[in-house]
Amino acid sequence: MQTHFSLAQLADPDTREADKILRTCVHCGFCTATCPTYVLLGDELDGPRGRIYLIKEMLENDAPATAQVAKHIDRCLSCLSCMTTCPSGVHYMHLVDQGRHRIEETYRRPLADRWLRGFLAFILPRPALFRLALLGAWLSQPIARFLPGRLGALAALAPASLPGPSPVDRPQSFPAEGTRRKRVALLAGCAQQVVAPEINEATIRLLTRHGCEVVIARGAGCCGGLTHHMGRDSLDYARANIDAWTREIEGGGLDAIVINTSGCGVTIKDYGYMLRNDADYAPKAARISALAKDLSEVMAELGLNPPVIEKGRRVAYHAACSLQHGQRLREQPKALLAAAGFAVLEVPEGHICCGSAGTYNMLQPALSDRLRERKVHNIESTRPDIVAAGNIGCITQIALGTNVPVVHTAELLDWATGGPAPSALTR
Ligand code: SF4
Ligand code: SF4
Repeated sequence: MQTHFSLAQLADPDTREADKILRTCVHCGFCTATCPTYVLLGDELDGPRGRIYLIKEMLENDAPATAQVAKHIDRCLSCLSCMTTCPSGVHYMHLVDQGRHRIEETYRRPLADRWLRGFLAFILPRPALFRLALLGAWLSQPIARFLPGRLGALAALAPASLPGPSPVDRPQSFPAEGTRRKRVALLAGCAQQVVAPEINEATIRLLTRHGCEVVIARGAGCCGGLTHHMGRDSLDYARANIDAWTREIEGGGLDAIVINTSGCGVTIKDYGYMLRNDADYAPKAARISALAKDLSEVMAELGLNPPVIEKGRRVAYHAACSLQHGQRLREQPKALLAAAGFAVLEVPEGHICCGSAGTYNMLQPALSDRLRERKVHNIESTRPDIVAAGNIGCITQIALGTNVPVVHTAELLDWATGGPAPSALTR
């Protein structure tokens, strides 16, 4: 694609990067067919190619974002299905991140939109505040279906019961069982530990059982991904995590930084890029990104202990977009589930997003609901006993639409190798 940036514009490293990305796009349009919003809406501007044009024009003209640009970029899920499909290697993620940032800086949203975005950006990274907000949403459940649009969507996301904080999410170290094979840090995260503390608990049991010492580093917290995808500056979250894990590297050494929320994994693996222009942090950020691993990658390296539960339960594996498109991890989780004795079922249209996508289900509830219905229909067509996914957003989203229990892959691997049955199966 031809671009028309001036030399002065290209002096800016971000614009140079955008120029490089735009020039790799050859307009072929292959990406549109696998874009969930294009599939739903059939509008070129709601597909990757259309969005790329909108961002190009906005950046080239040094123009403030218009309502039209904001509308179509806001509808993008950042699912990155287009990156999997693109034959030219267009780095849509880095381009849309720039687009969102420009929108956030230059476009004045309607008051309700500003308020909601500000509210989500403030509470989601803070577990104590998020717990309070969920309590409010939980109390409003009886009237949730009468609340309009986004308010109703927010209230509907409240879990049926609100677990208390788990003791495992505090800074501490868990020794390996038997001979230590690895020393790893686990990202305790933010929203996941509030909604489903059992996921970190299962992850720690699984890793320690397989010979890992697991550290929850003091000072590590939200990865910054949720606010980053809202176009906000999230680099302070990245810096705090980099500092926390660098202290661990320099203290006892780390073989990996394990992430069990695949959305966060995409962000942390991108820290090196996000901080490439920060002379103080660039090398440290690159080191952290190189150490970042999804739980399935680490477990694939370790090899799974033989299963100790009955074999053959039918598990529909839902591939989170952040895992299959964002991290290109497609086979490892399925291979691990199969090694654990589950009959792994392929979900039709597995490349299409479930509509969770960070804060998307709260900011774009109508599109998100349509994607969930489609996903649940496809999952239920496989007649599963259980649904497994590697991302809390997908788990929450899918569970709202089905009676089939939806659990994290870590919970199934933990159960199969000696841990307790996932609570969603025993409720
Ligand atoms: S990230 Fe997903 S929703 Fe956005 S343009 Fe690409 S395929 Fe479409
Ligand atoms: S598939 Fe790639 S090269 Fe083709 S239009 Fe989409 S982003 Fe551009």
